[in-house]
Amino acid sequence: MVESCIFCQIIRGEKPADFLYQGEAVVAFKDIRPNAPVHVLVVPRKHIRSVNDLEEADRIIVGEMIFRAGEIAKEQGISGSGYKLVYNVERGGGQFVFHLHLHLLGGW
Ligand code: AMP
Ligand code: ZN
Repeated sequence: MVESCIFCQIIRGEKPADFLYQGEAVVAFKDIRPNAPVHVLVVPRKHIRSVNDLEEADRIIVGEMIFRAGEIAKEQGISGSGYKLVYNVERGGGQFVFHLHLHLLGGW
């Protein structure tokens, strides 16, 4: 856990979020500034800076993130119409929060 990290603070319950899922390895909550009718962030409990910082053992976490995104898409009723799953990586890739997260965007 990183004290100053906004997503670590949300995971610790120190900052509010609109959770859709809270599991052992990952959580999911609504993006505060949605870029789509459905915009959910799937976030590992473990603080990992970005895709660049994944370790061998983190592969199971990434699998869980993508699996969970698919489940949430079904629950949100957007799996048929389609959606995007996006990892922004570092500043040039549009990453502003440096705690790994997967964007689920859909519902257009
Ligand atoms: P990225 O640009 O990939 O780092 O995406 C970070 C995302 O986190 C942005 O879409 C923000 O709107 C979102 N975000 C930032 N702070 C919060 C927060 N407190 N609760 C929910 N989403 C947030
Ligand atoms: Zn963090």
